[in-house]
Amino acid sequence: MKPIGMIDGKIIELDENVVPMEDRGHQFGDGVYEVTKVYNGRCFALEPHLKRLQRSLREIKIDSPYTIEQLTQFHQKLLEESSITEGGIYLQITRGVSPRAHGFPDSKKYPPRLTMSIRPAAPVNPDYRKNGVKVIMIPDERWLRCDIKSLNLLPNVLGKQKSSEAGCYEAVMIRDGFVTEGTSSNFSVVKDGTVYTYPANNLILNGITRTIAFETLAPSLGIPVVEQMYNEEFMFNAQEAFLTGTTTEIMPVVMAGNKKIGNGQVGPVTSKLQAAYTKLIDKECQR
Ligand code: PMP
Repeated sequence: MKPIGMIDGKIIELDENVVPMEDRGHQFGDGVYEVTKVYNGRCFALEPHLKRLQRSLREIKIDSPYTIEQLTQFHQKLLEESSITEGGIYLQITRGVSPRAHGFPDSKKYPPRLTMSIRPAAPVNPDYRKNGVKVIMIPDERWLRCDIKSLNLLPNVLGKQKSSEAGCYEAVMIRDGFVTEGTSSNFSVVKDGTVYTYPANNLILNGITRTIAFETLAPSLGIPVVEQMYNEEFMFNAQEAFLTGTTTEIMPVVMAGNKKIGNGQVGPVTSKLQAAYTKLIDKECQR
């Protein structure tokens, strides 16, 4: 069981020097990515991740170099070669390697480039899941196409660092007075039994976990979900809050800054969604 890498379908050692000086991902952040979680030796929700990848590629005008079937096979190959059963697979596609110039190169001469890696990952801290985590609130300083899962993550990186320096699990962002999302997760609150979450427009990444939670799990549990912008005051007056994300799964949030959300306890709606999410992983990954 060891982390390994892949370039355009070929297995490599993860510590091999493989990024050429003029890869546009490296020089411009000109590319997109996905992260898929592995449970019990199987990828969870791989298809929606690959569909979102195809969308991100379209939005930045990269012709997808591989089909969903080929990308699925690459995931399978990484699972088999690494024997990793609990972990994550990272995938990125850049606009390829070409002499540095802002404009797109000829894609026939300089094709897009796929790199992937698989690593083991520890399960989410059960204490966080049970008792909830604390977040900090920060200004959302990102661009206006947060719906694209692009490699340009500097505001997210800086925000996450700020949150760990403050002893928090995540930083949740505010744009124009409204709570948008976390630096690597979506954020939602629960008020009077209804989930409120930022609309899936250009200002957030429409998370796969968010979609599973709100389009599959919540309806089956009879939990209403409203896509609506809300401010910090609404958040503090809510009874519950939680994060959703591939690595975060469904994580209760009990404090923002130094203030409690609701009574500072994990609430019933979050717990129900967490249990249903675990059940879905069990089913899909045959745990
Ligand atoms: N928002 C941002 C900014 C993210 O980076 C992520 C993690 N990819 C998410 C939300 C959650 O998305 P998903 O559920 O697809 O992991």
